[in-house]
Amino acid sequence: MAKEQSQAELLSEKLSAKNEHFCKAMSDEEVKKADEYCEGYKDFLRRAKTERECVEYMIARAQSQGFTAYDSKKPYAPGDRVYLNNRGKSVIFAVMGKKGVSEGARIVASHIDSPRLDLKPMPLYEDSELGYFKTHYYGGIKKYQWVTVPLSLHGVVIRGDGESVKVNIGEDPGDPQFVITDLLPHLDKEQGKRTLLEGIKGEELNILIGSRPFKSDSGSDLVKLNILKILNEKYGIVEKDFISAELELVPALPVSDIGFDRSLIGAYGHDDRVCAYPAFTAAMASEEPEHTVVAVLSDKEEIGSDGNTGLNSSYLKYFIYDLAEAEGLRGRDVLSMSECLSADVNAGFDPTFPSVHDKLNCCNLNHGAVITKYTGARGKSGTSDASAEFVGKIRRMLDAAHVSWQIGELGKVDEGGGGTVAMYIANLNVDVVDLGVPVLSMHAPYEIVAKTDVYSTYRACFEFFRS
Ligand code: MN
Ligand code: MN
Repeated sequence: MAKEQSQAELLSEKLSAKNEHFCKAMSDEEVKKADEYCEGYKDFLRRAKTERECVEYMIARAQSQGFTAYDSKKPYAPGDRVYLNNRGKSVIFAVMGKKGVSEGARIVASHIDSPRLDLKPMPLYEDSELGYFKTHYYGGIKKYQWVTVPLSLHGVVIRGDGESVKVNIGEDPGDPQFVITDLLPHLDKEQGKRTLLEGIKGEELNILIGSRPFKSDSGSDLVKLNILKILNEKYGIVEKDFISAELELVPALPVSDIGFDRSLIGAYGHDDRVCAYPAFTAAMASEEPEHTVVAVLSDKEEIGSDGNTGLNSSYLKYFIYDLAEAEGLRGRDVLSMSECLSADVNAGFDPTFPSVHDKLNCCNLNHGAVITKYTGARGKSGTSDASAEFVGKIRRMLDAAHVSWQIGELGKVDEGGGGTVAMYIANLNVDVVDLGVPVLSMHAPYEIVAKTDVYSTYRACFEFFRS
């Protein structure tokens, strides 16, 4: 017979908030669904490692599910599915609602760029008969983590003749890879005196790319010349073409289940593909929604969302304006009535480094999708800080659909901080709150998430789209 609950236990159950593990909220069947859902996510992680590759992957998949390129001159009916490709680096997917945008749109916004190492405009050089690329890191990285890790090269080169050449080398079995070297411990006495964050400096992130000279001719820089010859044979490019290129080095690490219980996924670039994939798949799963569904997968978040493919540009606004005008409405009115989930990651509690978190207000792996009311730093600077009303609405929606969720702040007050695209969407007079997946080792070459949280975030996006 079950033990009778004390009065204190009964009252506590009624009044106290609990931050609970998914096991309390998810059935075995749902956990199985989460594991299955994550197999699709892992496949996406393997195929799409940069913003350009994400756009390509998503559009191809969307086309196979009835999405067509958006044309602002064309009339659309409820249930119609469209996409808008912004320069191959960000993309919007929309499913027209029964009410159109007359009461606003339901927007989920995520980013598909991740921290990485970009090549400098003139990257190629030779030093002491070794060939190198100079890099300029993209986004917030702890530089010491990026050395002695196998890297692959992705991106695009616009040649002098205007031809665009796609590059993807280091991912397929048998491909060569690239690496940044580090000092051996036997000789690191001076380096060891540097602070951890200065252990490797920006100008030391040089990529080793070759060591054999062009024949045994006399002359200088023959290793570099030999690399240029290989690149010319493979891609038809010359050294000057690097100037009009976007070449990105990303970790060439496998996507793996982590742990004996396979509950976690280790991979490069969970931030923010781990929210972009749920946003995208939730839009794919939306059929004849009440309100028009908009999933926006954006570029440039990791460097502040500036640039015409970032969410601080007007491309989302213009798209909503076009939807509004097609229904004879004003864009500003539609934006004012719209609601948005800014789907981005938060820092999961790491018991090895507990001091940076406020245990009462941090998020935990396997506790579900995390609502982040505000981000920012030093007294909520640089955040949109969602309203109590909107957080209340999202909370009710998640509870009604039995989605596993939690609340979380990004670390202790004055410990640091960060931001997402939420504030740029709030600036359009849209109600917005952050929701996403807790991550361990965020921005490292290999990040960790829990499968149940990925699935809960998908369910949150799906429920929001049909709300
Ligand atoms: Mn992010
Ligand atoms: Mn980030």
